[in-house]
Amino acid sequence: MHDDIPLTLGRVKRVLEERIRPAIHPVSIPLVIDWHELPGEPIAPADALGLEYTDYQVGTPWGAAWGTTWFRLRGTVPSSWAGKRVEALVDLGFDQTLTGFQCEGLVYRGNGTTVKAINPRNQWIPVADPAAGEESVEYFLEAAANPVLLGHHPFQPTAEGDIRTSSSRKIYATRRMDLAIFEPEVHELALDLEVLLELQAELPQGPRRMRILQAMDNALDGLDLQHITETAPDARTELVEVLSRRADESTHRISAVGHSHIDSAWLWPLRETIRKVARTCSSMVEMLGIDEDFLYGMSSAQQYAWIKEHRPEVYDKVKQAVASGRFLPLGGMWVESDTVMPSGESLVRQFHYGQKFFREEFGVRSAGVWLPDSFGYSPALPQLMRRAGFGWFFTQKISWNQQNTFPHHSFLWEGIDGSRVFSHFPPMDTYNSQLSGEEVARAARQFRESRHATGSIAAVGWGDGGGGTTREMTGKARRLADLEGSPTVRWEHPDAFFARAKAELENPPVWVGELYLELHRATLTSQHRTKQGNRRTEQLLVEAELWSATAAISSGFAYPYAEIDALWKQVLLQQFHDILPGTSIAWVHREVVAEYARVTQGAEAIIAAAQAALVGTGDTTITLNAAPFTRSGVRTGAGAAVADLAPVTDTVTATESPEGFVLSNELVTVAISREGLITSAIDHLSGRETISVGTAANLLQMHQDLPNKWDAWDVDKYYRNQVTDLRGLDAITLATDADGTARVIIERSFSASTLRQDLTLAPGSRVLQIEQTTDWHETEKFLKVAFPFDIRAEQVIAETQFGFHKRPTHVNTSWEAAKFETSMHRFVLAEEPGFGAALVNDSIYGFDVTRDSTEAGVTTNVRLSLLRAPRFPDPETDQGLQSHRYGLVIGADIATATEAGALMNSAERTLTGAHGFEPLVSVEGTGILLSSVKLAGDRSGDLVVRVYESLGRRAAGTVNVHRPVEWASVITLLEDPIEGPGGMAEHTDGSVAIALTAFEVRTLRFSLIR
Ligand SMILES: [Zn+2]
Repeated sequence: MHDDIPLTLGRVKRVLEERIRPAIHPVSIPLVIDWHELPGEPIAPADALGLEYTDYQVGTPWGAAWGTTWFRLRGTVPSSWAGKRVEALVDLGFDQTLTGFQCEGLVYRGNGTTVKAINPRNQWIPVADPAAGEESVEYFLEAAANPVLLGHHPFQPTAEGDIRTSSSRKIYATRRMDLAIFEPEVHELALDLEVLLELQAELPQGPRRMRILQAMDNALDGLDLQHITETAPDARTELVEVLSRRADESTHRISAVGHSHIDSAWLWPLRETIRKVARTCSSMVEMLGIDEDFLYGMSSAQQYAWIKEHRPEVYDKVKQAVASGRFLPLGGMWVESDTVMPSGESLVRQFHYGQKFFREEFGVRSAGVWLPDSFGYSPALPQLMRRAGFGWFFTQKISWNQQNTFPHHSFLWEGIDGSRVFSHFPPMDTYNSQLSGEEVARAARQFRESRHATGSIAAVGWGDGGGGTTREMTGKARRLADLEGSPTVRWEHPDAFFARAKAELENPPVWVGELYLELHRATLTSQHRTKQGNRRTEQLLVEAELWSATAAISSGFAYPYAEIDALWKQVLLQQFHDILPGTSIAWVHREVVAEYARVTQGAEAIIAAAQAALVGTGDTTITLNAAPFTRSGVRTGAGAAVADLAPVTDTVTATESPEGFVLSNELVTVAISREGLITSAIDHLSGRETISVGTAANLLQMHQDLPNKWDAWDVDKYYRNQVTDLRGLDAITLATDADGTARVIIERSFSASTLRQDLTLAPGSRVLQIEQTTDWHETEKFLKVAFPFDIRAEQVIAETQFGFHKRPTHVNTSWEAAKFETSMHRFVLAEEPGFGAALVNDSIYGFDVTRDSTEAGVTTNVRLSLLRAPRFPDPETDQGLQSHRYGLVIGADIATATEAGALMNSAERTLTGAHGFEPLVSVEGTGILLSSVKLAGDRSGDLVVRVYESLGRRAAGTVNVHRPVEWASVITLLEDPIEGPGGMAEHTDGSVAIALTAFEVRTLRFSLIR
């Protein structure tokens, strides 16, 4: 027979778009609207309902950026609509090419309770059944004029990203505020046709596809375009057969979970996220009432805590929905944090505070970690997840890799310590699924474990102000539950999916080491003050806990539980994956830097009070040490009278000549040229030169840095092609400090910026320390500082949480080549057998390494990433005064690098008091380091001590509590007991013997005799 497939497809598309969809709401009348504009910060809904409202005409521009407009919507349902379903329809002036990231609204009843949100692709409000006699309608709509910052002309610098610089121009104009009849059968017909249209597009030429095409033709033959409501049931009848054909038995199974990825801050301020969460939760609770199979999952305890505090009425509904088992708290973290940069203790607290909140509020505990969107995943995570009690890990982000395709979707991920966690990356490659035919087919086609496993996860719904899952999506899920030619779709808790996946994959593939994201590499550097605030506050809080616990047990100091919890939660919030990476708008980073100052103040006050309680009142000078290494003769966690300490015997000699400066102590000799470059750095013990012949270290290099996309996120490989060496010098002088430290001061100016470096060498130290202040006024530049080492390192060793990882220095494979900018914590070490050198820092996370070939052979050039100047989303990123502290460790191995890094990050403190004091806790054993000393979160007064193995090998030693101990036990990272023999900890006079495997983290609990 003759057959013309394009004719059928064209017919269905046109009729669906132009006739059927408009007929879902065939009749409408305008509502009567009043409004009240609030250009500044939002006010409480209860207050807004009582505002003065004045007449408003639909189409009138509303909302300057970041303002809130309250609309009152009133109307009467015509008596002729009796028996019909009625809805209000609101189009705030949405940009429908974007699913979120723009204006939004939340609808309230006159009594202040919420109804649901209004979003670009979710514009309806239910109206009580008019047949029940409720004919007059009154709603209030809180509309937020969040500007589009990433739309049609992405990545353009904009002043709209801060309320202080945004314009007062009104940016939206409403299009529609109506009462309308809703025709459910027409809505269902539209979904029938949409699902079939999308399915046939994925099918091969064959009987199934042809029958669908014929059925759609038949359906349209049965539809009277002038009487769509009346004939929609007939049209649907023609589709029943093709929609009831059952899926193939072997088809891919999709476990869907309703979702809305809400970034805790990004292209909007933190305060707006509170409202985004309230809006989305209101709609999702409403959706749970509409579709009884639907399940909705939401991560981030912080987001629940926000609505608990700010929108208790929404929170009550969420709490009920959680209790019903259909609103699923996911992930068990305080926020969906970055996982590359936070410290080990920070990640532990993300889990601790996240799970604690879920447990206390809902009586549930998340079984897995849900992180669809962070920018790479630390290889320390598998152990931390396991020790926090998680059984699975979910992300999607690695599908964004620029170069290499990740080889697995369901697999075991093995971390630095050998811990493995079952992980899943949805093959659909999105966390904003709309369950389109194309998406579900892609999931089936791409799924890598199809030989053994049957399914994958789909996170279904619009994020970031898109409002979550729509009724169109749940309608599609119903049709795709069991449909021939399509993967099956069913709403399912991710826990159920993971249980099945684990059972199916008896021998899952294994991925070892970091999950490096081959994109967004500049997030290790952008917004330096944010990164500095993170590093310093997470360290200060660990110190505040150490001194508070010591003082509480030794001197009856009141342990400030609530203050410490609140400060930690602020730091954890700011580790969110668009804040710490430096990829939010100016407003966010401005507030975040101020919050770091507040946290610093709070932590310093706790430290000062606890230390004062420990040393008493007097005028003896006492030095206290919180670093996990003895320093200046003071043990970890102790205070010692300076007079009692052995005096430093070493001295530094500093000489000046026409060639430059030579600084020397008993360990090292460093030569600094008149250009301010380090031309030689000799380790006395080995006699080795650290700097490559013919090169110089401390060379500042500035690159042009305009990535193709994602300015604050990305640095593209070609940035290396354009470089300026900053050799110009304004001044260089030599000085000697009172304690004998030699100091070379270098001042430079370049382009529009100036810079000062103090290079110091202290007696008895092998670290040449560099304190740098930069007055940075550059555009789209990347500042690095290079250290070309005369070391043939096959790999560099970079610190991560509770250990380190090794990355090859070669670029033999595309996987290595893609890692042209990588992460570290406090140190990076380049080592060859017998000799190494390290760079340590107190607030830098990014670096790069190249193997250079010189006359002397292969050498290793390590460069720290100091500053960038992207212009989107914050056009003023990193402008102004910036400070850095880093150091060259001359002659280093893992142990010395670890120690130097830890010491640089923990300031020695000196104060006056009556007496020094012994540590509360001490640790013995090579490589075993104290990570945390605190009182238990349950406020029992028990002591919690966390240690880890830092050298990457097995270690044995003891953890000693120097107070009478009643009992000791091993606990989880959440401070829960461990059942069975693993939970036992025999102690002898407060000492617990421990044997740790490489990088093992062990947490102990001590109940003290009081
Ligand atoms: Zn995100």
